[in-house]
Order: sequence, then C-alpha cells, then structure tokens
Amino acid sequence: MFEITAIPALQDNYIWAVHDDRHAVVVDPGEAAPVLSFLKAQNLQLGAILCTHRHLDHIGGIAELREVYNVPVYGRRHPNNPHITHDLRESDSLALDTPGILFDIIEVPGHLDDHIAYLAPEILFCGDVLFGGGCGRNFEGTKAQLHHSLQRLARLPGNTRVYCAHEYTAANLRFALACEPGNPALQQRIAMTTELRAANQITLPSTIALENATNPFLRCTQPEIIRTLQQRGLTDTSELGVFTALREWKNRF
Ligand SMILES: [Zn+2]
Repeated sequence: MFEITAIPALQDNYIWAVHDDRHAVVVDPGEAAPVLSFLKAQNLQLGAILCTHRHLDHIGGIAELREVYNVPVYGRRHPNNPHITHDLRESDSLALDTPGILFDIIEVPGHLDDHIAYLAPEILFCGDVLFGGGCGRNFEGTKAQLHHSLQRLARLPGNTRVYCAHEYTAANLRFALACEPGNPALQQRIAMTTELRAANQITLPSTIALENATNPFLRCTQPEIIRTLQQRGLTDTSELGVFTALREWKNRF
C-alpha cells in the first residue's frame, strides 16, 4: 500500500511523491530542497525519480537529489535531459518494487514532443499535458497532436485521479467559465476551487470524470462552447478547429 503526497515547489509546481512508510519515488522534481525536506521529515528513502518531460521546472532538482540518492531516473531520453538512466517509450511498463506500483507508459506529445505520462489503475501522472480545468501550452508539435493526447487521457476511466504538475486550476476555470458560462458542473467546481484556494489548499488531484465535465479542452463538441467561439469569429467548427481556437484564445486570456 502507498500514499501519494504533493510536495509544493518553485512558484506553483507540485512534485508528487508516491510512498509507503519507508520508501518514496518522486515525479518531476523541479527542485531538490523541498524533496529532501519531505524525505527527512517522513523518514523515507528515495527509490527512483520519474520524469514526464524535460522542462527545467520538472527536472531542475534531479542532479542535486542524485548526489544524495544514487537512484534510477526514468523518462524519455533527450539531449536536454541528460539525467535519464532508463528510457521509456509508448507501451513500456515500469514496475517499481518499493513502493510496489506498476505503471504503463503512454506518449502524449503536444506540450513537448517527447512528453510521456505514467498510468496505473486510478492514477495518472500527466505532467504539463492536462491541468485542472485546462491543458498545457503547445510548445512543440501540432495542435492536432495535443488534442489527440488529451483525447487519449479523456477516455481513461472516470475515477482515474489526475495528478497535474501545477496549481493552475483557479485561473483555468476562469477561462472555462468564459467559454461555457451555462455549465452547472463548472459553476460547482469553481465554488469548490475558490473555497480551497481561499484556505490555501491544493485543488488536486482531479479526476478524469471531473475534467470531462468541466475542462473546455475536453469539451470541444459542446454546443455552448462552439457558440461562444462563433461569437468571437470562429468558422471552422470541427473538433480540432474548436480545440485550436480555444488553445489560442487561452494564450491571450
Ligand atoms: Zn512543461
């Protein structure tokens, strides 16, 4: 049995720790100090590091952590991420012994080309592809790739918990409300999120069901979203046309 704990880092990152009472693995350690403090406070040994992608706010703490713990680093090999010791690809499995957990690897390009996600029953570590109420920016690849990656995640079981890497939910939901003001599930989520943030509490993990009900980037066929975009000049109302318009509008929102 294991728990999953968020370690806040940098401005608004979460480093997720999967741990039992003796061992931990961490996902996307953008910073070492908060991870080292957490391990010390909980009296845990670090067993492995998992990377979803090579942005510095996700890998910046790896070198310092490995000076203390000489552990394997899993992820996609890339010249800009020299820390990876074990390269992972689509359909690979990653079996960790301590704590015991088995991940399936899926490739989810569209934020970066080589972005991967770690999937276990009811657990998804999705890095910067899917956020609470939003999605990652399209730095590499096409909007179609990002849309396809998000569609894959949207089809996971609704009870899958979504462990995103940033506390962006409140800002994302403000955009979602502009897209779809008549969505009652969205209004309810905004009320809940506002309460959590007022108490300085984390809004994650989310679930795939909640994202499908409230995240505009997973709702590109909803008539209200299409109407909102048409009022803003959209003519291509295909699913990809809507997704592209949403992603571009959000960049300026
Ligand atoms: Zn990123």
